[in-house]
Amino acid sequence: MTSYIALLKNILNEKCPKCEQGKVFATSGNLLLLRIPKMHENCSTCNHKFEKEPGYFFGSMFVSYALAVGEMIVLFLLLNLFVSSYITIIILIGIASLIVSTFNFRCSRMIWIYIFDGMNRKL
Ligand SMILES: [Zn+2]
Repeated sequence: MTSYIALLKNILNEKCPKCEQGKVFATSGNLLLLRIPKMHENCSTCNHKFEKEPGYFFGSMFVSYALAVGEMIVLFLLLNLFVSSYITIIILIGIASLIVSTFNFRCSRMIWIYIFDGMNRKL
């Protein structure tokens, strides 16, 4: 039986969906240097290929969008308790979404990989 906690841990730790050992990302990216996170082409442990075809990760943009919207809603509800000005809230949400952008990039690809690669990983 698949444990969802273990699954979530693998996604957050960016582990390979097949062997759960190798790392998916080579670098985690740097917002200040405008560097997007870099992926390994193949898993260093089991040689599993992460990007099946060009444009494979196109759909992860929608996952990323959903993540970002979810985060913004939570943040808005939290800030709304302490900040009275909507302009301030919008600016703070803008700054926060920049800060989490590389995390969202990695996380959305990890979720994408686990949706399409992770389900039959025990086979
Ligand atoms: Zn692997």
